[in-house]
Amino acid sequence: MKIHEYQAKELLKKYGVPVPKGTPAMNVAEAEAAAKALIAETGSEVVVVKAQIHAGGRGKGGGVKVVKGQAAAKETASKILGMQLITHQTGPAGQKVKRLLVEQGVDIARELYFGAVVDRGAGRVVMMASQEGGMEIEEVAAKSPEKILKQIVDPTVGLAAYQARNLAYGLGLKGDVAKNAVSLFLLVYKAFVELDASLLEVNPLVVTKDGRVLALDAKMTFDDNALYRHKDLEALRDLDEEDPAEVEAKKFDLSFITLDGNVGCMVNGAGLAMATMDTIKHFGGQPANFLDVGGGATAEKVTAAFKIITSDPKVKGIFVNIFGGIMKCDTIAEGVITAVKQVGLKVPLVVRLEGTNVELGKKMLSESGLPITTAGDMADGAQKIVGLTKTTSAGSK
Ligand code: ADP
Ligand code: MG
Repeated sequence: MKIHEYQAKELLKKYGVPVPKGTPAMNVAEAEAAAKALIAETGSEVVVVKAQIHAGGRGKGGGVKVVKGQAAAKETASKILGMQLITHQTGPAGQKVKRLLVEQGVDIARELYFGAVVDRGAGRVVMMASQEGGMEIEEVAAKSPEKILKQIVDPTVGLAAYQARNLAYGLGLKGDVAKNAVSLFLLVYKAFVELDASLLEVNPLVVTKDGRVLALDAKMTFDDNALYRHKDLEALRDLDEEDPAEVEAKKFDLSFITLDGNVGCMVNGAGLAMATMDTIKHFGGQPANFLDVGGGATAEKVTAAFKIITSDPKVKGIFVNIFGGIMKCDTIAEGVITAVKQVGLKVPLVVRLEGTNVELGKKMLSESGLPITTAGDMADGAQKIVGLTKTTSAGSK
């Protein structure tokens, strides 16, 4: 689960991490009031209006503006709120801005990068820092990996003070500024572990002209499997920012992830789902989603899954690949038939069934009179759907 910058900053602040003063705003009036209060509190006219969406690169996309005075803050807020903000992370359609953060303007001396991530390779939390603040860390990692400092954290010890100092000195910080950075790194690590985060990025981490070290931006992602022990974090979820198909899938307890291809997949079991995606790719196709309907899916669940797949305009063909172990093939057949009757079938559908009640399932499908292509095995099914998808895509051009 991802959260907004202002929410991440509120959490970090509770841990003692220095962040700029700021207030979230859901409309222009709130933004103006926030700017007024900030100007009165700080004695400075400089305020920053920041679009809150779950994607980075907002500055370059025009979603972060430094302005002077209450009137300018109000005007900028009215421009940014409601805009379709396009960044390299939103995709070409962009994301509609519904929330703002109105923040004090900070006198920046240096912009650095700082991040913590669960590194699957190392099997540990890795703390990263770089002098290339504001840049995309993926780009730095690709072009000049030596510019990224890393400290791998031993979970039984936690981030050791010497590791935090290695990062601070590696960034070229000295004296009190280095001390401030060390303190920030230790606090961020504590927040990361206690909140079960999987990613925490502070880009930029800034050194101010008066030697303070602040988290000027904050991006936080939590481990979904640990959310059950953080009921308060669940409240920070913003469904407007999430993929509507994934939100719908969650309601039916389906494991569903949207992908970029055009072959919709409905499979039971995560292993079979991954194997199905690999097989589709092997035969030159691209899966449009990962979908595991689970072991004990009901006809109702299968219908819901089918609706989610067909509602995606990218999907040019559907491959149902089911092994009936706990799940019976006739249940799947019933779900597929019900769903097709309810939502119609505008794209080719290939079904491969194997296992318990397979003959009954196949019989139900063939007697339904629906235009369903059956497949003998997984490779056969994948080849058939890839072939059919290519013909429909070419035909629709
Ligand atoms: P994003 O990463 O989405 O572009 P950031 O929060 O990193 O958004 O903001 C982009 C840039 O805007 C920062 O690198 C910084 O230069 C400037 N900026 C952001 N917040 C402030 C602030 N409170 N005071 C001064 N400059 C800011
Ligand atoms: Mg940033």
